[in-house]
Amino acid sequence: MALTNLAYRGYEVWVPDLPKAIQHQLYGFRNFKSSLAFGTVPKRWFAETWVPLKTLRIHPDGSRKGSRNAPVVLDFKNSVIKLYQVCMNERGYVVEVPMPKWVVDRISEGGDIKFARVGLKDNEPYLALAAERVVEPYQPSDYILAVDVNSWKYGIAWGLIRSGKLVTWRAEGPSTFLINTLYHQAVDRERVVGKLRRVSYGDSMKARRIREQAKSRWSRIYRITRDKAYFLASKLVRKAVKYKALLIIDDVTEESRKELLEEKLPPDVIKLLMSNLKRFVHQLEALAQWYGVPYRFRRLYSTVCPICGHELTQVEGRVMVCNNCGFRAPRDMVPMYWALR
Ligand SMILES: [Zn+2]
Repeated sequence: MALTNLAYRGYEVWVPDLPKAIQHQLYGFRNFKSSLAFGTVPKRWFAETWVPLKTLRIHPDGSRKGSRNAPVVLDFKNSVIKLYQVCMNERGYVVEVPMPKWVVDRISEGGDIKFARVGLKDNEPYLALAAERVVEPYQPSDYILAVDVNSWKYGIAWGLIRSGKLVTWRAEGPSTFLINTLYHQAVDRERVVGKLRRVSYGDSMKARRIREQAKSRWSRIYRITRDKAYFLASKLVRKAVKYKALLIIDDVTEESRKELLEEKLPPDVIKLLMSNLKRFVHQLEALAQWYGVPYRFRRLYSTVCPICGHELTQVEGRVMVCNNCGFRAPRDMVPMYWALR
């Protein structure tokens, strides 16, 4: 397993005694045996790794795709996934798991699952499936969907532009009120735990319970931003598909981080407000590829004048003003003017 992992990372790997039958069932296995320099002693590698395995797909109409004796069989006819010899190296040994609905959905959209990865997740055996689909991006219409990734405080700004005019514009994010409440609850609890520790009650039942409560609040905030990231990525890609729009993404979040710093927010709050933004961009890109949405990354500034390039000054109500040409717009709308250029 470890050697396959290394081979995938581009290292030359010599596999001394991997049976041919298993080599063939590893997805994309490359045998580097011949490239081993004479006299090199194979090293022992210890690694936790995910093993990519070949799959056989049996479609509802009975047609088959993939390797005939693959260890992972996706049977869409009987809605079941069969794992051969994966959990026990014994001929004919099979584990059956129900077919997840999302797999059926991806397949019905024309996707394919060429390989599966088997490994441990939270110390439990886990089968990870990845659907692939090759789609030619559509020819964009006269619509542009501009997405400016900010922070969760002011939300992710998006604008729908048609023939050089801004049709709709919004900034969306999770409830900052809820994040704020959870944050203060977590900080308060940590403070109590700190006090208990100072009087050497840090290991008491009470301290442990309060520490758990604080921890659950931190992870809840993280989950809120993660769910919002997935929700928004899906919403925006569907919008792009609907209008056959060209997707323009600005994923540089430095301006937003600077703004939060200027507001003198504590570093851990800033970290929370910036969490899962990379995940959002990654999901947006993955979905755009899946649905054939043409997209481009472009800088859409919010502190530079889109008319004359002069630096903008922020006035009351997060409104940006250009002292050179008189341009004026809400801060989150400025990037949309850059997309219009
Ligand atoms: Zn200007």
